[in-house]
Amino acid sequence: MRIYTWFYPDAAQLARPEYVADIVARLKRLRAAGLYCMADEGDVLRNTTPWRAFVARCHDEGLDFQLGFLPFSEPPDPTPEMLRRRYTYLQDGELKYRGLCPAWPENRMLAAHRATQLLDALQPPALHLDFMRYYFANNPIFGVNLEWEDGRKWLDTYFHCDCPLCQTERLELLGREATTYDRQHPAFIFKRIQQRGQHVEEVLRALRRLTTQHDMRLTVAVRVQVFNRALIEGQDWPRWCEEGLLDAVSPMNYATDLATVEHRFQENQRLLRQARVEVLEGLARRSSAGENTPEQLLAQAQRVVELGADGVALFHLGVLDEEDFRLWEAL
Ligand SMILES: [Zn+2]
Repeated sequence: MRIYTWFYPDAAQLARPEYVADIVARLKRLRAAGLYCMADEGDVLRNTTPWRAFVARCHDEGLDFQLGFLPFSEPPDPTPEMLRRRYTYLQDGELKYRGLCPAWPENRMLAAHRATQLLDALQPPALHLDFMRYYFANNPIFGVNLEWEDGRKWLDTYFHCDCPLCQTERLELLGREATTYDRQHPAFIFKRIQQRGQHVEEVLRALRRLTTQHDMRLTVAVRVQVFNRALIEGQDWPRWCEEGLLDAVSPMNYATDLATVEHRFQENQRLLRQARVEVLEGLARRSSAGENTPEQLLAQAQRVVELGADGVALFHLGVLDEEDFRLWEAL
């Protein structure tokens, strides 16, 4: 079983030798092949030295360091112009997320530029993308649980981005404001989702060219529910895999119930057909979908590998405790 884990350090931590030694020891106990290192972009660019040292250390230890990057996240030093091109996602009146909307050509160009800066700074063996999509397909009034909802509630709405360009796109589609009828019409929704897919894929292809030029691999964390979530957020990842745009994919199969994990994994195996891509199923010890015991997490990992996964990606290193490490090192 190939084991990866998400990891969220910062430069100050990585500058401390005892911290790095402890992390490497944990990864060894986990028998990890590598890590999805979710670096804060600004933190990397402000102080590259500890990051570069950590990349080199991982190489020496035989660990596959994959540099995490969020193409549409809030940039480190946003200009007033960038702020105009972002959208805000509120939940119950509270700010849940703010980022750069993929609808803007400027934001798509900027994503490739930001990745170039990071790759030049660290020269990692691989780039790992997260949030490679529009954020949150559904209207916030439907509440946080919808993110993991399997039922039909998501059909009743989906999130209409309110940034100026998305409003213009909707106007351009009809030559007038969309009515409630239009917004619920399958053809209108089809056109909107098609646009989302094109915008996201344009950036993915640019990043694929970039990583190929640098002789680096490209991996992506994706929505586990392809129909309920991924497609309506512009993330047609089964097709990306079929077209060879990715080297590995980690569907975030976060659930506390083994049957749900199995069902979702098998559903995606059918969608992937014969795609030549490594599947490292994302499994969570603790996430917004709930908490698993160390035994439950291990059972999920063993089951998806039995069903055909190449390995697993654990979410995340910081929440694994002594009991987890004892179980994994005993494998
Ligand atoms: Zn928008």
